[in-house]
Amino acid sequence: MEFTDLNLFRGLGEDPAYHPPVLKDRPRDWPLDRWAEAPRDLGFSDFARYQWRGLRMLKDPETQAVYHDLLWELRPRTIVELGVYGGGSLVWFRDLTRLMGIDCQVIGIDRDLSRCRIPASEKSNISLHEGDCAAVETFEHLRSAAHPLLFIDDAHTNTFNIMKWAVDHLLEHGDYFVIEDMIPFWHRYSPRLLEEYLGAFRDVLTMDMVYANASQQLDRGVFRRSAKKD
Ligand code: SAM
Ligand code: MG
Repeated sequence: MEFTDLNLFRGLGEDPAYHPPVLKDRPRDWPLDRWAEAPRDLGFSDFARYQWRGLRMLKDPETQAVYHDLLWELRPRTIVELGVYGGGSLVWFRDLTRLMGIDCQVIGIDRDLSRCRIPASEKSNISLHEGDCAAVETFEHLRSAAHPLLFIDDAHTNTFNIMKWAVDHLLEHGDYFVIEDMIPFWHRYSPRLLEEYLGAFRDVLTMDMVYANASQQLDRGVFRRSAKKD
C-alpha cells in the first residue's frame, strides 16, 4: 500500500459531486412516540450537506453570512478565488452578486479543474483558469480585472508570496484579500512566522474587524487594502 500525503487537499470524501446526506444509523422518519429519544447530532459530517443548487460548497453557513455582508458592502466587480474544487462557491458568488444587482466577474483558479462540476449552462460571468499557485505567473492575467476586487485564497499554497504579488500588482485601495481556513492552524504551529509575515504588510493592509471575527473559516484572515496603490 502506498500512503499519500493527506496534507494536500484531495476533497472531502474524495468525491467532488454533491450527494444528499444518507442516514445510516437512524431512520429519517423518526416516530413521534419516541420524540424525546431522538439523537441530536446530525448523523453525518456537516460539510457533506453544504451545497449550492446541487454543487458541493465548502463554505459553512456562518462563512456564507459573512461573505453576504461583505459582498453587499463592497459590491465587487471582480471576485478571484484560488481553489475551485467542485465549483459550488463560484456559482454561489456569481448568483449572489447577480441577485444584488452587481456586475461582477467571478474567476476561479485551480491546478486541477477536472473535479469542477459547474454545468456549461451555468458558466456566465464565471471564468476558470488552470494554474498552480506555486507560480505567481499564474496571476498575470488578473491585472486587467475591474475593481473593487475580492481576492480569496482557498488553495493555501504560496499564500504570502501571492499576497505580496497582489499588493504590488493588483489590489487597489479598499480591495480585499481573504485567507480562508488556515490562520488558526498556522497560528498554532508557526505563531512567530505568521505574525512576522502578516506584519510585513502593515503599511498596505489592515484586518477588517467586522468580518475577521465572524466565522471560524475566516478567523483573523480578512484583510483590506488601506494604502493607495503606487
Ligand atoms: N473554494 C472551494 C469552495 O469553497 O467550495 C473549495 C476549494 S478546495 C478547499 C481547495 C482547492 O485548491 C482544490 O480544488 C485543489 O485542487 C486546489 N489547490 C491546491 N493546491 C493548489 C495549487 N498549488 N495551485 C492551484 N490550486 C491548488
Ligand atoms: Mg475554504
